[in-house]
Amino acid sequence: MNNTNQPHLSDILTHLGEDRKNYFQAISPPVIQSSNFAFPDLAAFREAFSDELENHVYSRGNNPTVEILRKKLAALEGTEDALVFSSGAGAIAAAVIGNVKAGDHVVCQQGPYSWTAALLRKFLSRFEIEHTFVDGTDIQHIEAALRPNTTVLYLESPNTMTYECQDLAACAALAKARGIVTMIDNSYSSPIYQNPAAFGIDIVLHSGTKYLNGHSDVVVGVLCGSKTMVKKIFESELMTLGGILSPHDAALVIRGLRTLPLRLLRSDESAKWLIGKLDGHEKVERIWYPFHPSFPQLELAKRQMRGCGGLFSVKFKTDSMEKMEAFIHRMERFLMAVSWGGHESLIIPTIGFYNIPGRVAPPMPWQFVRFYIGLEDPEWLWEDLERAMEELS
Ligand SMILES: *Cc1c(COP(=O)(O)O)cnc(C)c1O
Repeated sequence: MNNTNQPHLSDILTHLGEDRKNYFQAISPPVIQSSNFAFPDLAAFREAFSDELENHVYSRGNNPTVEILRKKLAALEGTEDALVFSSGAGAIAAAVIGNVKAGDHVVCQQGPYSWTAALLRKFLSRFEIEHTFVDGTDIQHIEAALRPNTTVLYLESPNTMTYECQDLAACAALAKARGIVTMIDNSYSSPIYQNPAAFGIDIVLHSGTKYLNGHSDVVVGVLCGSKTMVKKIFESELMTLGGILSPHDAALVIRGLRTLPLRLLRSDESAKWLIGKLDGHEKVERIWYPFHPSFPQLELAKRQMRGCGGLFSVKFKTDSMEKMEAFIHRMERFLMAVSWGGHESLIIPTIGFYNIPGRVAPPMPWQFVRFYIGLEDPEWLWEDLERAMEELS
């Protein structure tokens, strides 16, 4: 559900949730590194236990530092409340598990984050929960996959390799009419560039490890939704499975959020600039980026998103795996690593998944590289990339 009076972004990042008179007017909130909270009398004891999400009983439930973060995240996504978890995977698992029981069915956009697929394929299948992966670029495919026992429609728009999008308003309308809960992994866009709740999506999830924290030093998950939904998941999945965020990590994420709009803007502008350099380059065969003129869903992407951030993918032109490997090894300023959303620019090449025993390589061609552009000087990055591309000749 949307807040009708959305606070200003600057207000959210500087003030919202921060009750400075409670801690000596400190500008940065303290890390309340306490597992436990004492009650001065029985009235306070009873009051605290009447609502463990709003009051302070024990830090597996609500911790004051974590609470500041939750309030800011809910405001950023325009939802009534939010929860944080010890990882994005933890938030995703809690959202899905909280809305299924044995015999239910989940419809999921094909090619989601790998551990989301594993949750459905390997984990929930053990509990008689069925799933169907669909090509969500066409709402008719989604509609055709729905069954009488479907309780969850899971979206990831865009995903973080090839950026396929789903029509969020159409998905929300379709699901709502049948009482199906909609949820989306919104990590790609962050709340700065896309607010799915405004299109009617029920639960908005993030790997806060990426843009929200933004410094490659915390693993964190976020779940945003209505008060009712958040309370339900708090009382079941969060409290029983216990995948909570520590107060210290919460303070780091609060610090990360202060610069979120600035960091995204920098990544977005640098990525666009580098794409401009790669566009039409003789060693580039194809570019994947939601706002690229060649993107099949450009119109939908522009309707739902205000920007793209630092992720894009490229298929390079070469027939030689040796040359491709030499190209990858020649890049020195881009770090070869998973994850993204931090200060540092990264590459993840499909060819890296070849020849790993027991592992199936992703469906993208071996000339495919996923780039993440961080906060460095884009010209300094281009020097590195241009030099490395000599290996492809
Ligand atoms: C990283 C990632 C996740 C998982 O988040 P963790 O914080 O690593 O558990 C989920 N979805 C997307 C799109 C991601 O990039």
